[in-house]
Amino acid sequence: MKEQIVETITFPHEEWVAIRSREGKLMSIKPIAGSWTLLAAEDRMQLAKKRCYVKGLIACPNCQKASFLPETFDPPKELGDGKPPCEYKCTCGLVCRIILKDWDRRKLYCACYEIIQGKNIEPHKQYFHAITEDEAHHYFWAQHRPDITHLVGIGPVIGFFAEDKDAKRLIV
Ligand SMILES: [Zn+2]
Repeated sequence: MKEQIVETITFPHEEWVAIRSREGKLMSIKPIAGSWTLLAAEDRMQLAKKRCYVKGLIACPNCQKASFLPETFDPPKELGDGKPPCEYKCTCGLVCRIILKDWDRRKLYCACYEIIQGKNIEPHKQYFHAITEDEAHHYFWAQHRPDITHLVGIGPVIGFFAEDKDAKRLIV
């Protein structure tokens, strides 16, 4: 048997630029080679309707091709900084072990906001991940600027994750 030396590559987290329709629907997303990104909760719900269960994306450092990080891609602890990395294979032939930087430092935040629809005020909620509250605000406004009537607040979600001891993973 041939021994294969597999390189370990650390992928930093980046916010990839999303192209959206006027209704805010995710049309496409521009990968940043050698990085990973999380999808917004609304995008994930949208994709789940098409039976596409995607939590985030990762882009090959060689060819920039994006691959899915499925919803089942947990626990973060196994893939965060300094943890045993998992294997990554790309169609371009790259095989490496990956560490997703900042994966387990990111907290779940929830933004509550209102949008005026005709004469009605519609309350909305959006869940997303961020490291700090500042980053959460930045991320929120990068996505929503024109359509928000009133931002009620953004805060960390407490008690959203439950630990399943048998499966050794986090359940949302
Ligand atoms: Zn590739």
